[in-house]
Amino acid sequence: MAAMKFTTKSLEETKSLGRRLGSILNPGQVIALEGDLGAGKTTFTKSIALGLGVDDVVTSPTFNLINEYMGRLPVYHFDVYRLDGIDADYMGFDEYLFSDGVCIIEWADKIKELLPEDTLYIYIKKISETGREFDFKPNGKKSNEVMEVLMSC
Ligand code: ADP
Ligand code: MG
Repeated sequence: MAAMKFTTKSLEETKSLGRRLGSILNPGQVIALEGDLGAGKTTFTKSIALGLGVDDVVTSPTFNLINEYMGRLPVYHFDVYRLDGIDADYMGFDEYLFSDGVCIIEWADKIKELLPEDTLYIYIKKISETGREFDFKPNGKKSNEVMEVLMSC
């Protein structure tokens, strides 16, 4: 499936897109989020987690590289902004990235060489104060299936 764009006009619409995405994810899905500071990566991650049935998404991983939540699947929320390239190889990320949980990674570009091939890339762009564009790029079987289901629900 080709890339797919979604536009949200408000915070509420972003949350609803995130919850919808979360509700259809399968074990082992990796989601790479890209976008400037304030684009909405953390906001979107929290809604995905809510859609996965997590009911306590209070912490933001500003000081933790990885936060773990439990929904109908384990959710691993990465924020690797502070990680420098050299560290990444030694962090044991594979344990999460190749698990049956769902990984959602802010600033994924910093660890792109560690990501599985079948990753769903989402580029978020701020187009106005409350408007955001979500550019979904599936890259593999699992990610493509998610896109197909998302389009049909
Ligand atoms: P990031 O993690 O990319 O730095 P955050 O999710 O922390 O971004 O911040 C996004 C900010 O933009 C939040 O304050 C949120 O309320 C605001 N916002 C306004 N409109 C939207 C929208 N349509 N989608 C997502 N966030 C929005
Ligand atoms: Mg953030």
